[in-house]
Amino acid sequence: MIRFAESLNETGFRIKQDVAYMALDVSHCGVVVLSNATESYRVLYANAASLSMTGYSEVELAGRIDWYVNGVESYEPQQKKFRNALTAAEPISIEMRSYRKDGSLHWCELGITPFRNHEGYVSHFIGMLSDITTRKNDEQLLPQQSRHARLTGLTDQLGLRDYLDKAILATAFNPLKLTVAAIDIDQHQFASGTMDRQSQNFLVKIAAERIGHCLQIDEMLSHDGNGRYALIMRADSRSGAVARCQAIQRSLAQAIPLADQPIHLTCAFGLAIFPDDGRSAGSLLNYAAVALSHARETSRSTILFYIDAMSVRQHERTTLESALRNAIVNGELEVHYQPQVNLHTGQVASVEALARWNHPELGQIAPDRFISLAEKIGLIDEIGLWVIEQVCNDMANWQEQALPIVPVAVNVSAVQFRNSLLGDQIMMLLNLSGVDPAMLTLEITEAVLMDDTSTARVTLEQLHHAGVEFALDDFGTGYSSISYLKRFPFTKIIIDRSFIRELVDNSDDAAIIKAIISMAHTLGLSVLAEGVETEEQCRFLSHNMCDEIQGFLFSKPVTASALIELLQAGTALPPSLLAAKKIRRTLLLVDDEANILSALKRLLRGSDFNILTAGSGSEGLALLAQHTVDVILSDQRMPGMTGVEFLSIAKTRFPETVRIVLSGYTELTSVTDAVNEGDIYKFLTKPWDDAKLRGHIEEAFQRKELADENRRLTRAVYATNIELAKANRQLRNTQRHEPHLVQS
Ligand code: C2E
Ligand code: CA
Ligand code: CA
Repeated sequence: MIRFAESLNETGFRIKQDVAYMALDVSHCGVVVLSNATESYRVLYANAASLSMTGYSEVELAGRIDWYVNGVESYEPQQKKFRNALTAAEPISIEMRSYRKDGSLHWCELGITPFRNHEGYVSHFIGMLSDITTRKNDEQLLPQQSRHARLTGLTDQLGLRDYLDKAILATAFNPLKLTVAAIDIDQHQFASGTMDRQSQNFLVKIAAERIGHCLQIDEMLSHDGNGRYALIMRADSRSGAVARCQAIQRSLAQAIPLADQPIHLTCAFGLAIFPDDGRSAGSLLNYAAVALSHARETSRSTILFYIDAMSVRQHERTTLESALRNAIVNGELEVHYQPQVNLHTGQVASVEALARWNHPELGQIAPDRFISLAEKIGLIDEIGLWVIEQVCNDMANWQEQALPIVPVAVNVSAVQFRNSLLGDQIMMLLNLSGVDPAMLTLEITEAVLMDDTSTARVTLEQLHHAGVEFALDDFGTGYSSISYLKRFPFTKIIIDRSFIRELVDNSDDAAIIKAIISMAHTLGLSVLAEGVETEEQCRFLSHNMCDEIQGFLFSKPVTASALIELLQAGTALPPSLLAAKKIRRTLLLVDDEANILSALKRLLRGSDFNILTAGSGSEGLALLAQHTVDVILSDQRMPGMTGVEFLSIAKTRFPETVRIVLSGYTELTSVTDAVNEGDIYKFLTKPWDDAKLRGHIEEAFQRKELADENRRLTRAVYATNIELAKANRQLRNTQRHEPHLVQS
């Protein structure tokens, strides 16, 4: 132990005896003796406990001035207080935050007592140090406890982020590395699907405790409540970090006693290192999560650093790139066809060609993934042309074998339109295969028109003149500019499937679709809705005069041979889904009182219509989704959903229905509002007059049929308009390209 005995002797300091020194050396409390000579406060003595608290060696501390400031972050007020006390030679007790020699944070309580020599002069200070790091950390955690997952007592992501922010700030004073680990316990998902809540909680708690036990001082663990933990470690090397993670894995792997059978936990780690991978808490947490998601893909119990994860991704990308380069030659590409069905006739009107890549190891890779990759690496021209060539060959084959044939739509990306040879190349493929250009439609997005309008325009004009048709794809997702529709030779608009998805529940989407259809028809364009998966969506579209649908409801994209089978079988949409159908009248009765429903059914017995009954608004909506209903007669007072509420939803989803309220109560406001909004056609009161009620229902059916007829006529007019507009465009084009007669 250091005993700067000379100095002590000089000043006549009393602690000279070895026994006394020994006593101090074995004390758990840190003791330091400072010199007061020239106010430099040099360290004259430090006992073993104080050395272990600070992490410094005797030599490093000997004679050191301002030792307490060492490594101290900006904890100015305490330092000032401490210095003032020394200057004034007064006793003081303070709590200070500083860093150990290894950079780890440490809190100590420091009590300083001035030591006066026999002349009454303060020659030394005696300092007593206690390590209060654990207590302080606990205190700091307290405010965050409210946010903690109650179960584990751990902080959440926010708490961890705060902590990481602070730890990063502190490295300005003490450069050191931090490792951020994202941890995912494999069994969590399994547990949440198969175990009762109590066992799940038990598992989460044990896991948190076991990881917690592996923590060292100044490290922090958080839990997001979903089996995912994040940990800030003070490991200063990659191998050190890996060893720590492995220790956690070992601890989790110990059997956990559960009622049925013991369970052993396994987990994967994603690691990001400060400052190598990132310098902010946000980016580090994010990178650790990215590394974790890659680790999950690899195998169980993987420990993956962000930087390695990135090279894995890079590797994947380059492998995919080179595989795609060979895909055509290796015959891995294929074209599937998805029918586009006419809503007037129910027949397949055309098909869309969709590229498929069958990778020998990775299986089928979606076009969303490889088309954009092909665009990036300059392969799209080649792949795009291969698709058109394949389509032309298929069509030529069908023609040759006298198979049923429909026009085919091919997607062409904006990047392909930058190639000024595209027009010539497509024409060459059409000529070689002998396919009529009018049998080919190109589906393009607005990006084509915005990108480089002059090159694209020339190609569009060239192909259009030859008879190729154009459809505007993904309408509604981009600028949806009407001026494009007017300036370029489109014959069809394709409503993006994102609008169709929520069509039935989202009245905004329903309104947008109606507006697009009406606008397109005004411009003489037909409308196709893609992504139609349910009968409900289909019914809405056909009632709103959409011209064609495409989607899983009718068929998924299928191989060329499956398409031929489908066409030969004459597969069509059932008449109930078409707008112009004439089927038996259907009435829906909704009342929560069963006796009223039977009374109404008795009353209408013998009528030539189909009667459906529902005991509540929601039951009514379910029936509406399954059947084509003409007239709805609903009670007003029903538990859950009132009649007016039900009919107002029915109006948005099934606008063509005629809706009547039959109520024993006259709640004027809600009813008048509903009538004014057009949700209700008639309001009738209970008890009813049999003959009158029958009359009202008959009237409602007639009204419905009139509206149906109007819709059918309007549709016919639109269809004719579209044909006319098409003919006009062709005529204009031919005229433009005919040689002008010059009169001599
Ligand atoms: P897209 O042009 O919008 O094609 C329609 C996509 O919707 C297809 O996806 C089709 O399988 C999918 N789909 C059809 N009906 C439904 C449905 O009812 N529900 C759902 N959820 N999806 C449905 P796919 O085949 O994955 O193609 C994705 C995109 O890749 C296409 O979107 C198109 O932009 C592009 N693509 C496909 N083949 C080619 C190609 O040969 N050349 C180019 N340039 N792009 C292509
Ligand atoms: Ca398309
Ligand atoms: Ca589309």
